[in-house]
Amino acid sequence: MSFTPAERLKDVRKSATRRLFDSAPPGSINLGLGEPDFPTPEFVQRAAIQAIQEGRVGYTANAGLVELREKIAAYHNEGLGGKSSQPYTSDSVCVTTGAEEALFAVVMAMAGPGDEVLLPDPGFNAYPTIVELAGARVTTYRMPAARGFAFDRDLFVSALSDETRLVFVLSPSNPTSRTISRDDLAFIADRLRGRNVWIVTDEIYRELYFDERPGSISEFYDQTIVVSGVSKMMSMTGWRLGWAAGPEEVIRHVTVMHQYVSTCASRVSQKAALAAFTEEGRRATAGMRDELRRRRDVISSAIERHVKLPYVTGEGAFYAMLDVSEFDRPSEEIAMALLGSRVITVPGSAFGVEGEGHLRLSFCIEPREIEEGVRRIASGLAKKTA
Ligand code: PLP
Repeated sequence: MSFTPAERLKDVRKSATRRLFDSAPPGSINLGLGEPDFPTPEFVQRAAIQAIQEGRVGYTANAGLVELREKIAAYHNEGLGGKSSQPYTSDSVCVTTGAEEALFAVVMAMAGPGDEVLLPDPGFNAYPTIVELAGARVTTYRMPAARGFAFDRDLFVSALSDETRLVFVLSPSNPTSRTISRDDLAFIADRLRGRNVWIVTDEIYRELYFDERPGSISEFYDQTIVVSGVSKMMSMTGWRLGWAAGPEEVIRHVTVMHQYVSTCASRVSQKAALAAFTEEGRRATAGMRDELRRRRDVISSAIERHVKLPYVTGEGAFYAMLDVSEFDRPSEEIAMALLGSRVITVPGSAFGVEGEGHLRLSFCIEPREIEEGVRRIASGLAKKTA
């Protein structure tokens, strides 16, 4: 059989994470995961079971159940503290099959040939592929490894051009866990005002912070689409429930795109997500936050004791970037070699040019597994240098 995929897929490769996972030997410790290992809270599970037992399993409106959209709107309005001229309503929310679909629908609806989409580097590896599928051009602003992957005002400004149509903001970040300060968010907003540029802010990790809740650029800039979901904050990755929220005139178009991709998000997952927007839901997220903070301390001290290489971990999410640049080899090669020590990591190069020279380690597994995984990295790296 001979088959050639459509032209638009010709440069899309299996992600580095997938390639690593597929080659991992049995018994490997997985420091490559991008999902919390906590069970979905029981009250959320019960809401889903009830929806199934009551037979409420049909399609919903394309944009999602009104009562869920109202909860999501209220959640985002809270964050705005009344600052925005456009409070969110149920019409400013489109519920999607995970934040991933929201990202896809938003980019497809908002950018195309001739447009530049400005992405953070390093940043979530799905962004450039989605932008290219939309026929738009990828440009990047560097968050330099040399500065601990912090936001850099000069590099941001110099990356803007007259063709910039969309700017992505990712805080806390995958892969670095770093957040962008409120002052820097205000700076970005000031630089974009009057330029006919829209912001897409990916806030999937916003509820997983260790100190202060990170700000949202939607507090500073009205032409903003927020992408978020319950995957990380409620440990519901497989339920596939996310959303895009922003001005109605944009969300209307995002919803058209979404309609032709997935019709609507699963009704059962939508019912379950309703349970997340309750006091019980807030408490569950707070519990996960506390545990992740503890695990961040576990991985930090394990790296310091066993690996003794520089690393960066940030103010939220669940990632650490281990600096392996002294080995002077591509991070993908190092990650592949570490599979021999039965530990899975993700090469920093998967996230952009600035990620090269690093391995992304996730600390969303049990502390003793984290400790053992880091020990295996240390012995794997020692073998390589011997
Ligand atoms: N955005 C970022 C930065 C992510 O890391 C992920 C998943 O890893 C997503 C979006 C997609 O999340 P979801 O599970 O809601 O599709």
